[in-house]
Amino acid sequence: MREAEAKALGQRVADGDRRALARAITLVESTRADHREAARALLAALPVRPALRVGLTGTPGVGKSSFIEALGMMLTGDGLRLAVLAVDPSSGRSGGSILGDKTRMSELTRQRNAYIRPSPSQTALGGVARRTREAIRVVEAWGADVVLVETVGVGQSETMVVEMTDIFVLLIAPAGGDELQGVKRGIMEMADLLLVNKADGDLEAQARRTRADYAGALRLIRPRPGDPAGWPRAMCVSAATGAGLAEAWASIRELAEARQTAGTFETHRRAQAEAWFRHALETGLLARLAAHPGIAALRREAASRVATGELTPEAAADLVLDAWGGNG
Ligand code: GDP
Repeated sequence: MREAEAKALGQRVADGDRRALARAITLVESTRADHREAARALLAALPVRPALRVGLTGTPGVGKSSFIEALGMMLTGDGLRLAVLAVDPSSGRSGGSILGDKTRMSELTRQRNAYIRPSPSQTALGGVARRTREAIRVVEAWGADVVLVETVGVGQSETMVVEMTDIFVLLIAPAGGDELQGVKRGIMEMADLLLVNKADGDLEAQARRTRADYAGALRLIRPRPGDPAGWPRAMCVSAATGAGLAEAWASIRELAEARQTAGTFETHRRAQAEAWFRHALETGLLARLAAHPGIAALRREAASRVATGELTPEAAADLVLDAWGGNG
């Protein structure tokens, strides 16, 4: 795709064209060198229209897709435009993304004001991060008011999603006993809003107890600088009956507005952008270093001299960088 074509595609995305949107995301997801170039032209041509970016995580079975479908129907019903992006770094390995299953949100998929994108199938978290960030830019240019970035509860992907969203929501299931059902403390500490799903029927009383347990645990977590008292917050919802959904959404809006007033919303976004810039610079540098033909041999030689103790690791690194031309 030529630059002019990429720019025209960007224009159609900005005009709200859904097919152009799908093509544009496919383009930014591609790793082919010529596609990357076209993707850069596309991204540069897109208008900047930031949406409210909400991260959502929870272990499989907790009700993420049911929740997104129910919340999404509510938001699109209110006239909001919604994009759902999935991050599933494991999908490459398991072959077939669990988050890629379109039947999961069948009703929402049919809404004109909703766009659902399954996870790109790539194992490397770094690649997924870049593509998801670029996809966020694309859906925002399309006019999304809300971008939901969904991930399964596996290790590093939450951290990644926290680093690209404004508000992070953790969905949990009603617990049987008094244990906090093994939700990793690290993940709990990242959450702004903790929602106990399935608070309906036989599970309702259990859900309320679980919520109270988590609310207690959250009180021991230091609030984010600038956040009002009472955050992070724990609430009950039911994706099945819709109970608590409006309240959960109102809470998300309330926190976003409080952060906007406090100024932390913008500083948080700026810090995120700076961190991603550093990250892109570092990965770009390493990729260029690795791609340099003369440097590869020197690197191997330096590495073996480090292994034998002939060179210190620092001296070996300097040797390679100086030869590469990185000495100023
Ligand atoms: P995901 O794997 O996190 O996306 O979870 P799903 O949305 O696929 O839901 C897993 C199971 O939990 C399904 O059988 C749903 O019908 C059920 N489920 C989801 N939300 C609710 C809820 O609010 N109440 C009840 N009772 N069941 C739910």
